[in-house]
Amino acid sequence: MAFEFCVLGSGSGGNSVAFWDSETLFLVDAGFSCRETARRMGQAGLDPENLDAIFISHEHGDHVCGASVIRKKFGPRILTTPPVGGWLDAKMGLATEPILIADETEALGRFLVTPFGVSHDASFTVGFTIGKGSRKVAIATDLGHVTPELEKIFAGSDAIILESNHDVQMLKEGPYPAFLKKRILGKQGHLSNAQSSEALLRIVGQRTKHVTLAHISRENNTPEKALEEASNAFGSGNKPEIEAASQFDIGKIIKIG
Ligand SMILES: [Zn+2]
Ligand SMILES: [Zn+2]
Repeated sequence: MAFEFCVLGSGSGGNSVAFWDSETLFLVDAGFSCRETARRMGQAGLDPENLDAIFISHEHGDHVCGASVIRKKFGPRILTTPPVGGWLDAKMGLATEPILIADETEALGRFLVTPFGVSHDASFTVGFTIGKGSRKVAIATDLGHVTPELEKIFAGSDAIILESNHDVQMLKEGPYPAFLKKRILGKQGHLSNAQSSEALLRIVGQRTKHVTLAHISRENNTPEKALEEASNAFGSGNKPEIEAASQFDIGKIIKIG
């Protein structure tokens, strides 16, 4: 019943995570070019020719820019919500089908994929739980704040992929223009290291063996800062393995179950 995943890369330059078992292979987001996605999949020992589907979280370029060419070349289904599907069709000629509805589960092979709405400044943004048998991975990479509902969805996960976008002080003192700082810090922006680690402290349970900190800003954060803040949040108590996702390299292959 086991399955595996690998973060192919994460950050404002592109986001994509591969999930697979012996029969099914899919991506959550396709924010790298087709060539780069194929290269990174190869590094993880995956053949993009076997790609069954791409689930799209929202229409920002760092999550969709490779989707059109990947579909042409390798033929996966593209699954997303109606507002994002409409956008992809209008702007990229990328008709999506079938359409995902928040909180409704879509079966793909033996996987059950459930999108859930998050607060972010796109037409609509979702995170996903990826379930198989009694196992579950939860992923949300672009969100302005964490709600109690979201914490419930993440609870009981075997692995969690959650953004830890910026260090608030670095962002405030950094080079971004004021409007962009306001956007990132806002309720529809991105999670800070502090917001992310506070949430992790509440949602990581006995079952959670692995956490990937995602969408780490290159200008307003460092992987070391994000890791330190998350690790400190757990104190000396039991903590899961915590990894910082890289923009440039694939992450570890994580086996679930
Ligand atoms: Zn976004
Ligand atoms: Zn993003």
